[in-house]
This record gives sequence, C-alpha cells and structure tokens, in this order.
Amino acid sequence: MLPYGRQSISEEDIEAVTAILRGDWLTTGPAVTAFEQAIGEIAGGHRAVSCTSGTAALDIAYSALGVGPGDEVVTTPMTFVATASCAAIKGAKIVFADVEEDTALLDPAAVQAVVTDRTKVIAAVDYAGHAADYDALQPIADSVGAKTLADAAHSVGGTYKGRPVGDLADVTTMSFFPTKNLTTGEGGAVVAKDPAVAQKAHEFHFIGVVRDPERFRVTDEGPWYYEVHEFGQNYRLTDVACALGLSQLKRLDEFKKRRTEITARYNEAFAGVDGLRTPAQREYVDPAWHLYPVRILGGRRKEVFGKLREAGIGVQVNYIPVYWHPVFTDLGYQRGMCPNAEQFYAEEISLPMFPDLTDGDVDRVIETLIGLVG
Ligand SMILES: *Cc1c(COP(=O)(O)O)cnc(C)c1O
Repeated sequence: MLPYGRQSISEEDIEAVTAILRGDWLTTGPAVTAFEQAIGEIAGGHRAVSCTSGTAALDIAYSALGVGPGDEVVTTPMTFVATASCAAIKGAKIVFADVEEDTALLDPAAVQAVVTDRTKVIAAVDYAGHAADYDALQPIADSVGAKTLADAAHSVGGTYKGRPVGDLADVTTMSFFPTKNLTTGEGGAVVAKDPAVAQKAHEFHFIGVVRDPERFRVTDEGPWYYEVHEFGQNYRLTDVACALGLSQLKRLDEFKKRRTEITARYNEAFAGVDGLRTPAQREYVDPAWHLYPVRILGGRRKEVFGKLREAGIGVQVNYIPVYWHPVFTDLGYQRGMCPNAEQFYAEEISLPMFPDLTDGDVDRVIETLIGLVG
C-alpha cells in the first residue's frame, strides 16, 4: 500500500543519531540546545522550546498562555482533535468558528462573530500546510485582549506575506511526527514571540523547575538548590531526537520543494476534471504543502475512498469535524454548527504526499483517481 505520508531518512540522519548514542548526552544536552536554536532561526528568530510531540506543544502553549477554567478558546473544527482538546482539558470552553469555504482555514469573520471578553486564545491551524490569515486574526485577538496561536503542525517551512511560519502568531506549535514536514520520531516545538511566554513554556515542559537564583524565594540554601513555582510536566525531547531533527532541518527546503512539485503535478492533472476540486491557495501564501486535500464532488467521497484503498493507494480523510467526537457531543456540541467545515469534510480525501514519492507514484494516483471519477 502506498502510504499517504511517510518520513524521509538519509544516511546523514542515521549518522547524526548514532553519533549521539556514542556520546555523553542522551537528553538535556547540546543537541537539544542546537535544535531549539535552529528551529528559532527558521521561525522568525523567536525562542523555541522543543518537546515530545505536537500535542505536548499545544499543552505547553496553552499553559504558558495561562488558559484555564472560565476562559474561552476559539478554534477551527477542521483540525486534529488535540488543537481543541489540549485547551478543553484545562477547563476552557472551546468555541468552534467555521472555516472559509475554499481554503478550510479558520474564517476571521466567523471568529469576529464569536469573540468575547472571555476569549483567551484564538487558535488557528495551517491546514494542509497553508498558513491561516493571521493579519486578519491578530487585530480581532488584540481587540478582546486575547492571544493568537498558530497550530503549525502542517506548515513548518511555509511563509505568509513573506514572513515565516513561527513569526505569524503570538505562539506557534509544531509537530515532528513522521508524516509531518520534518521528523524526530515523536516530537514537537513551541515558538513564542514574547520571551516571558517562552520562558513559561520552557519551565512547564521541565516540570516547573526554576534555576535562576534571582527568582528564588529562598536564597541561602546552596548550589544544589532550585525551586518549583508552578506545576509542570516532563515533556523534554531527547538529544537523540533533536540530532535527527537538526539533520532533517538541513533538508527542509528540499522537502518543501518536492511537496510543491507533487502539489503542482496533482493540480495540473485534476484541473477541469468534473467531480474533483483542487485545493485553494492565496497568492500571499507560500505553503509547505503537508497534505494534498482533493475534494470529491457529487456525494461520492466514501465510494472513491474505498476504491483508492482497494487499488493500494493509502488515502486518508483530514479531518472529522472536531466537535463530532463524542467527547464534545457529550458536552452538547451539535452537528450543523460549522457548515463549511462539514461540507469540506464530506468531500475531502488526502492523497499520498511525501518527499520520496516518485513521479511514477504520483501518476499512478492521478490515473486511478481520474479513472474512478471520470
Ligand atoms: C499532528 C498534529 C497535531 C499533533 O501532533 P503530534 O505530534 O501527533 O502529537 C496537532 N495538530 C495538528 C493540526 C496535527 O496535524
């Protein structure tokens, strides 16, 4: 079965990892520092904190932004559940705003309609690798004293109006799962523009440990001394993983280029084919295409999905609207709330998309799909 996504591992990646295994630091060592530095550099020069997954990154981000009971978090239903669940688990109320009909990105007009003085965070998702409209979202957040969060699990390496992902929202979260734009196995990162938020993120992912003597409540204990001022988790990414990430970062441009080529090949083949709709792209966004979400028209998505799988093509559906999950319906969320997201879901299939996909693989997917809908 041709997978829909997979990692690309080079001999250099393998050497980078084995060098760590032969060295002194398996975790909390120099590879972690170097990886965080390198992520910060591609993300607008802001401080990055590495962590064990994209989900951990969301937990850390919401914690660093102080999300808790009584707060509202406005987000998109067209995402992986973690974007919403990591705020819900802290006691915040999740308010789903609909997506734009064409891009499936959080619609600023829908956000404007639901923000209140309780809104703490507006969390957008760069669905498929295409950045959301942060220049429209940020003023809405500012007007109610909220912060913007970019769930950039799909879009690492992309740009918006010439600015890199990581420089678009107050806080950005990334995932380095094997199907994502670069991998550390499991892994993720949080990037924060405000150094105080970045420091909170760092401390939360390090069990809340404070090491700066200037901030100690008690100052005369001894050199072993540290304090914990707020509860945290151990979400540290290892040097083994960070060395892989550092090595992968060297190929991020190459990965993005290949993903762009594959997208163009699909777009060209599907343009004008009845029954298919290709992904929308804003002219001011340079996406790091993580998914290729094609839309199957005429109510045939389920049938076409099944036949693609039968043909050995490992398609996926991204995503089930988040509030359809029983954990949300049990809280009273109802179908019909975000019609654009539901329509998009009803039509969407993610085709195979990863850097090592050959042109021959892409052509086989194209021929099979056109054969099914044509
Ligand atoms: C993958 C993903 C996550 C979670 O990342 P993990 O590393 O799998 O925990 C969060 N949000 C989105 C949009 C994702 O695609």
